[in-house]
Amino acid sequence: MLIGVPKEIKNHEYRIGLTPAGVKELVSHGHQVMVQSNGGEAIGFDNNQYVAAGAEIVSEAPEIFARADMIIKVKEPQPNECRMLRQSQTVFTYLHLAPDPEQARLLLESGATCIAYETVTSNGRGLPLLAPMSEVAGRMSVQAGAHNLEKAQGGNGMLLGGVPGVEPAKVLVIGGGVVGINAARMAMGLGADVTLLDRSLDRLKELDMIFGGRLKTVYSTEDAIERHALEADLVVGAVLIPGAAAPKLITRELVSRMKKGAVMVDVAIDQGGCFETSRATTHQEPTYVVDGVVHYCVANMPGGVARSSTMALTNATLPYALALADKGVDVALADDEHLRNGLNVHAGMVTYEAVADALGYDY
Ligand code: NAD
Repeated sequence: MLIGVPKEIKNHEYRIGLTPAGVKELVSHGHQVMVQSNGGEAIGFDNNQYVAAGAEIVSEAPEIFARADMIIKVKEPQPNECRMLRQSQTVFTYLHLAPDPEQARLLLESGATCIAYETVTSNGRGLPLLAPMSEVAGRMSVQAGAHNLEKAQGGNGMLLGGVPGVEPAKVLVIGGGVVGINAARMAMGLGADVTLLDRSLDRLKELDMIFGGRLKTVYSTEDAIERHALEADLVVGAVLIPGAAAPKLITRELVSRMKKGAVMVDVAIDQGGCFETSRATTHQEPTYVVDGVVHYCVANMPGGVARSSTMALTNATLPYALALADKGVDVALADDEHLRNGLNVHAGMVTYEAVADALGYDY
């Protein structure tokens, strides 16, 4: 199969669809890979590394879109990319179609087969191609929190781990899924005093088995949220109710009673945020202050560590990319129900129920 990897064109997107290591795997399976010139340059993957891995470097995106059987990307195709897609071509990338009617219309018009990373499933209720970005965001949330606790950033001047003779900072993680466990692990690693709240007792039991007494697990109620938020130096919002907007678990009134200089990192901001005072921010201007509490609400946190994120993403997508390339798209989709769940648009039809419902298409 001829696979194309264009340079990402969304504003401040430095990730790329495949690392050189991913290209090498596909090439060793007998496939050809085209990579757009300087597509990975910003994160230290230069053309020479892609050539050494067996890729052909192509200077312009239109040539990639014109020749490739399958396009592998990171972000949803932008309108001019959608217009270059065609029938009998496959695109494998994050799509997030439900809130994006224009993209949906253009993908339908293209006739292409569009497989969305975010709806590929695994056994249980896992989303294996979303999980790596949650891992990144969870770990990063504590880095961001630690930085913003510094006085110069508006924080209260607490060092997360304390020092001998000085108490560590108190960290509250709300939600103990993929983001939450990674945030808790990082905060504990830095020596902070960490409490994690979740509404799933089974999940709290699992976390207790993993971390023992080092992590305080507490059932998430309004009362528990209030008590722990009032004591916290850093709060990480990491809840998800699948398919719904994030619940507002910390009210504006509660924020006004929190410690001055406390920091709140709302990772759930991409689902609307789980603090009433949250609004989406960018890596250029990541924070703002409400009632003396610093808010960090960057909607695409993994983009800030684009090199690590690209490697984590390729690790997760590569087995599916190999299956699609080795077996052919039709057979790969027929063989694997979980990969088939990723199919959102095919031959001018919306093929994913939640997207069809959200945008008013037949399914
Ligand atoms: P997940 O499904 O693995 O975990 C969510 C957890 O929240 C579950 O354990 C669930 O039981 C818990 N929960 C639900 N309601 C709760 C409540 N009222 N109190 C306490 N816990 C509650 O989800 P995840 O992968 O960890 O993702 C969490 C959020 O982070 C999602 O909104 C996701 O989109 C977002 N995210 C954002 C970024 C970013 O860049 N900002 C990156 C990755 C993920």
